[in-house]
Amino acid sequence: MNAAEALSEKERLPLMRIILVEDEKQLAHIIKKGLEEEGYSVDLAHDGEEGLYMLENFPADAAVLDIMLPKIDGLSVLSRMRKMGSKTPVLLLTARDTVSDKIKGLDTGADDYLTKPFEFGELAARLRALIRRKTEIKEAVIRIADMEINTASREVKRGGRTIPISAREYAILEYLAYKKDTVVSRTEIAEHIYSEEFDLDSNVIDVYINYLRNKIDKEFKKKLIHTVRGAGYILKERTE
Ligand code: CA
Repeated sequence: MNAAEALSEKERLPLMRIILVEDEKQLAHIIKKGLEEEGYSVDLAHDGEEGLYMLENFPADAAVLDIMLPKIDGLSVLSRMRKMGSKTPVLLLTARDTVSDKIKGLDTGADDYLTKPFEFGELAARLRALIRRKTEIKEAVIRIADMEINTASREVKRGGRTIPISAREYAILEYLAYKKDTVVSRTEIAEHIYSEEFDLDSNVIDVYINYLRNKIDKEFKKKLIHTVRGAGYILKERTE
């Protein structure tokens, strides 16, 4: 086992990136920890200004945004990020369960709405639904040609045979699969699988792509991972 593989076995892998904007420290900590245990990479902002900055500058797969926030309130953050063209799915959190708040939130561009107090399990389930909706993949199993990726059990099969795969390889493959038929840059892959504090080294991505090719493409006539010169990688069933 080489160094990169050893690293991948050591950590449970964050796959999707979530930006969490919540000023109540204890609640923020519980949500962050819970989401990390679910395998997400979480960036936390403690006020609306910091949250808006993150949402505008870092790519995220979804955001959890509290309404009552210091500096800039959640609804203003939401309206400003939507005006900037951000399509990041947003789950709004609020302490007030009033219909007018709900309507205002949804009108401003929230994708879903959760009233405090809530069970962590409900937040996690709603986030999963938002991300699925965004990627337009409704099922737990993603199929590309004769490859099957089970996003619940994290099992990968090709031609009906299970392929042993490391956690980091899986994270990259799943990300490519969510974006299937779309070119994904090395930087984008790196940003989605590493936390913010991680040094982005796109060479590492190439190394993992090679491991993946050896596992899922090498023995098969139909290749699924393709290099797009100067742009990145694409996972697709090529028909030519
Ligand atoms: Ca708050």
